[in-house]
Amino acid sequence: MTTRRTPRTKAFAPDPAAPAGRSCDHPGCALDGAYRAPKSRTSINEYYWFCLEHVREYNASWDFYKGMTPGQIEAQTRADTGWQRPTWPLGSLGKQFDETMLHDPLQLLATGRIKREAAKVNVPTELREPIRTLGLDWPISMDVLKTRYKELAKRHHPDANGGDRAAEERLKTINIAYAVVRHYLTDPPRMAATG
Ligand SMILES: [Zn+2]
Repeated sequence: MTTRRTPRTKAFAPDPAAPAGRSCDHPGCALDGAYRAPKSRTSINEYYWFCLEHVREYNASWDFYKGMTPGQIEAQTRADTGWQRPTWPLGSLGKQFDETMLHDPLQLLATGRIKREAAKVNVPTELREPIRTLGLDWPISMDVLKTRYKELAKRHHPDANGGDRAAEERLKTINIAYAVVRHYLTDPPRMAATG
């Protein structure tokens, strides 16, 4: 019989930092939220507070996806849209549940449709047309923008198209689009102007 000399922290020990009187974050649960769980892998300093039962459920679904590639996770999510029915957390949300409610900053769980919508929403209005002209996906870096511009400028240059007028027009449009996006990246507008 062996004994461990150093006591180990229990996996589900109540957190001493738990806010007093805080109730479990699981929808509809009124128990004390004495156990903390990170909201996501990318924001490990933001926490949910759960009761013992719900922190176990939460951790079980968290561990479930660990080690999977994004593709495997997406396949799994499609195959089981209820995310480990009947437990956390979709069962209790029922029909009101929508994929967009998942806290999923990396979009690992999102389907193609959600990803496309998110991308569309994020493009600043004044950049939609220029971005489309350049055939790019927002957000982009200055490097990507410049590389793409050089590529397009070369391809549509009148000299490379036998002096073709249409190519010249295309190049003008591309030049304007490039200037607009470059200006935006160099000197982004203040956040106050939302639209
Ligand atoms: Zn609970």
